[in-house]
Amino acid sequence: MKINDSIFLIDGAEFDSNMFCINNELLIDCGSGMFIKETLDQMEEYGLDPKKIKTIVITHAHFDHCGGTREWKRITGARVLIHERDREALESGKGTLVETYEIPYEPPKADKTLKEGDIIKTGKYSFEVIHTAGHTPGGICLWDSDNKILISGDTLFIEGVGRTDLEGGDDNSLKKSLQKIKNLGDIEILLPGHGAPASRRNIYAKDAIKKALDSI
Ligand SMILES: [Zn+2]
Repeated sequence: MKINDSIFLIDGAEFDSNMFCINNELLIDCGSGMFIKETLDQMEEYGLDPKKIKTIVITHAHFDHCGGTREWKRITGARVLIHERDREALESGKGTLVETYEIPYEPPKADKTLKEGDIIKTGKYSFEVIHTAGHTPGGICLWDSDNKILISGDTLFIEGVGRTDLEGGDDNSLKKSLQKIKNLGDIEILLPGHGAPASRRNIYAKDAIKKALDSI
């Protein structure tokens, strides 16, 4: 799905996360790695060249978001960034839920870790790293305050918030993280890790997001 001229949503197959490709140089999340071909086909449809991707950001180390990282790194040659507190899970597989779902996992290496306040720039966008623990210890959202775009991983969806009952999950941390998101102010475009993206102009989505943020 084309979000605007420079942001594309690459739909995940089955339980794959959403992937977002921004300016054809920044890739957010890598899906499970089980449907790489389908994903590459979508990129081709949108006229995107995987070889131009320079940076891969993993919103958190669950296999449905990071299982494909090693392969995407090979395809693109991009550097891989993840929050420091999810790095170990990414690089070992432990805590990514692969064991629970008995899914093969080829651990990738992160090239750099991220922390609260780091900035990732691409074209007219300047994304600030917001550390949003709760779903996992090192989950992050990316916030572009000029364009009011929030890439929310599994912390916030249109109709709900991230689960905290999985390994590494924590209710209290999620509460604090949602408060941080509330403090950002109006979100113009929400790009969540699963399900449909939303625009503020969609009143239904706006109300649903507000409800989700107030839910815990
Ligand atoms: Zn997750």
